[in-house]
Amino acid sequence: MYREPLNNLQIIEYLKRTKEDTTIEEHRMALDASIRVFEKEKPEITLEQMQELFDFLRGKLPDSMSIVKKNMPILRDDQAFSIIWYIQEHLGRLPDKFELCHECKQIYDTDCGGIAVDFLRDAKEMGYNCTRKDRGHTFCSDCR
Ligand SMILES: [Zn+2]
Repeated sequence: MYREPLNNLQIIEYLKRTKEDTTIEEHRMALDASIRVFEKEKPEITLEQMQELFDFLRGKLPDSMSIVKKNMPILRDDQAFSIIWYIQEHLGRLPDKFELCHECKQIYDTDCGGIAVDFLRDAKEMGYNCTRKDRGHTFCSDCR
């Protein structure tokens, strides 16, 4: 069975679970347990990381990275967010609480505000300043 290389936290956890006379089966169980511990503690994707991914898809590489220029994606805002949306909704690998603001074109965390304008009257009743052209779009709390 293929395994990803262990990271330092997994190795430390693994070593805590083994001793000199550990059997192969005990090694396997210790390894599985250490991976489970780490996976539970895997930090959540942050808003900044989501924005960085979005910017990358639009052609802006993070300073700490390099890439062959011809391999750099340069997508429109809606195309870039479609890829994020696919990973959120179809693969379930990114939190779906992050949305793209239709106005400022920044990623925002829906847990911290903002609105999806499905029904104009509902949005107005909730105190948002929306017009008919906002229907079907999402906005961060700074823009609406
Ligand atoms: Zn905005």
